[in-house]
Amino acid sequence: MKKVYFKTFGCRTNQFDTQVMISKLKDFELTMNEEEADVIMVNSCTVTNGADVSVRAYINGQSRKNPNAKVILAGCGSHSKGESLFEDKKVFGVIGHSEKEKINEILKFNDKPFYQIGDLEHIDSTIVEEFVGKSRAFIKIQEGCDFRCSYCIIPSVRGNARSHKEDDILLQIEKLASNGFGEFILTGTNVGSYGQDQNSSMAKLLKRMSMIRGVRRIRIGSLEPIQIDDEFKELLSEPWMAKHLHIALQHTSDKMLKIMNRRNEFHTDIKLLEEIAQKGYGIGTDYIVGHPGEDENVWSEAIERVKVLPLTHVHSFSYSKRDNTASATMKPEIKGNIAKERHRELTALIKAKNLNFRNLHNQNLEVLIEQGRNGIYHGYDQYFNKVEVTSHENLTSNWIMIEKADVKNDKNMAIYN
Ligand code: SF4
Repeated sequence: MKKVYFKTFGCRTNQFDTQVMISKLKDFELTMNEEEADVIMVNSCTVTNGADVSVRAYINGQSRKNPNAKVILAGCGSHSKGESLFEDKKVFGVIGHSEKEKINEILKFNDKPFYQIGDLEHIDSTIVEEFVGKSRAFIKIQEGCDFRCSYCIIPSVRGNARSHKEDDILLQIEKLASNGFGEFILTGTNVGSYGQDQNSSMAKLLKRMSMIRGVRRIRIGSLEPIQIDDEFKELLSEPWMAKHLHIALQHTSDKMLKIMNRRNEFHTDIKLLEEIAQKGYGIGTDYIVGHPGEDENVWSEAIERVKVLPLTHVHSFSYSKRDNTASATMKPEIKGNIAKERHRELTALIKAKNLNFRNLHNQNLEVLIEQGRNGIYHGYDQYFNKVEVTSHENLTSNWIMIEKADVKNDKNMAIYN
């Protein structure tokens, strides 16, 4: 049997896509050693120019180190750089997202170079799960995005939003729950758009999920502010909802939100976040600093606005250019060192807010332990805060209740006997 090695770049969605391909390889052997591979599948990322450079460097490196292996390009990069890499004979083959599930046949029957880009409307029939320990599962419920944020290439390489069928997802969850999985994390490219093409919605899916025996806690990877409707808000007090939402704001200046072609605005974002925080939720967000146009005045207003938001977690990114996006040609650009400083300022501010939140929410913590050894275990509570637990028992994959945690600078700590 020929051996296939997978090299995955980029986000969790790409990790899922690699799993889809692996699950379909019937006539090949999977190898973890690229040097013995006959085929090297490069599941690429193209989110920034830097990501393209890393993929190209890897491909070039493989043709030197491993000249007999066939290098096949898959993933988002196949839709942006596939054609040129194929024409330059840097790769033996290119497959687009819609072709993943045919990987076994493609590899088996193609002994000549091939360029099989497919379409961007397909949704895989394989619903992939990924497990952390034995009780937490990530489920990819949708693909693609209908938004057109000016800095983002994703819609042109992953297509518009489309959802997996509700019944298929529920069946999968039922199976996992009966095998002991209690926490489910819903993910996708734009998770909150779930259901719009299925006559369903995130709220409807959640309600049906919650009725499955064994489902104890549900998290949602990320939501856009405009996707949080009344039907969803009605679920916020349900015991099975993790008390943490990740709501992607990306910025707090209306000028920047407009430049970024976002659909949210600060005056509605603040109302929404306050309403959710009042229900006892921790709230995380994504935030891009250093996008063109973010001058000193804009930034000072933006950071003042962050101060009043009830945020507890942040994924802050320094803007990184992506060719073929509207932002790539925008001026004035912001210097890298300034963006770095803003990133530092923002993360320090949210860290302080998180500490404050944990001081107020350090009791009755429901912690799912993910891993640990030598008597020290780690997991997350319902607010998505990290808890370090000392115990003589083996707690891995257990749910435990911490009556009161000791709040430290970067995590909560507790003793469990
Ligand atoms: S919501 Fe915006 S940033 Fe997110 S994938 Fe869609 S276009 Fe890109």
